[in-house]
Amino acid sequence: MSPRIFLLGAPIDPVVEMEAVERIYTMLRSPGQYHVMTPNSEMLVEACRNESFLNALLGSALNLPDSIGLKWMAHFTRQSLPERVTGVDTVTALVKELPAEHAVFLLGAAEGVAQRAKEVLEKMNPHLKIVGTYAGSPAEEDARAIIDLIRQVQPHLLLVAYGAPKQDLWIARYLKELPSVRVAMGVGGTFDFLAGTALRAPRWMRFVGLEWFWRVLREPRRIKRIWNAVVVFPLLVVWYGRNAPQRKE
Ligand code: UDP
Repeated sequence: MSPRIFLLGAPIDPVVEMEAVERIYTMLRSPGQYHVMTPNSEMLVEACRNESFLNALLGSALNLPDSIGLKWMAHFTRQSLPERVTGVDTVTALVKELPAEHAVFLLGAAEGVAQRAKEVLEKMNPHLKIVGTYAGSPAEEDARAIIDLIRQVQPHLLLVAYGAPKQDLWIARYLKELPSVRVAMGVGGTFDFLAGTALRAPRWMRFVGLEWFWRVLREPRRIKRIWNAVVVFPLLVVWYGRNAPQRKE
């Protein structure tokens, strides 16, 4: 297992997709509870001003490098990430082979989206056991009802789609109250991609690292987040490199 690298003080795991899936399988078979995160460039910018979110990244079991900017900035800081590993690709690969003993719960996204994602995932793996879907909300006042619902159906794998940082703060706060859950993963727009309510960039755009540009075109409201990813993140990495040495484990 390669040691974690650090960008803006946040740990990132230098894994390829297959290793990420293997590590999650191992967690599902091990005692304990594990939080898996999928940090991208704008999430690391957020972690610079949100201490609880940085603490979630520091305390999680696995942080997958979900944007090409992380790979580029790792290289710039003389570290290395083998590839971009997205949440949606990891969830798809994981769930394709998941045996029925590891039941899954899909939490979050707009009304009906998780249910559609469930149907798509069940087509990929007829043995898959998805024991519940619920949109809910990351608001504190909704947490009790969500916890009760999940406790009733006892999943091993909980996928949470409330966008970052909310989904990961939710997991960090409530995972202990969900004793059946072995792995909880913040998955961002994964259910939307699976359900077809959001379209991924064409393969060539992903290959050359332009998925962010595709998202600006399709969802102009994301412009501030993309500005953070494409402009603020590299500037912060340069500033951080000059003012605080990158940490290594
Ligand atoms: N979302 C939600 N409740 C919220 C905020 C977001 O269910 O209060 C869902 C949203 O519908 C989407 C998912 O969280 O399905 C991811 O949101 P976003 O696209 O902002 O996250 P990203 O993929 O960029 O991390």
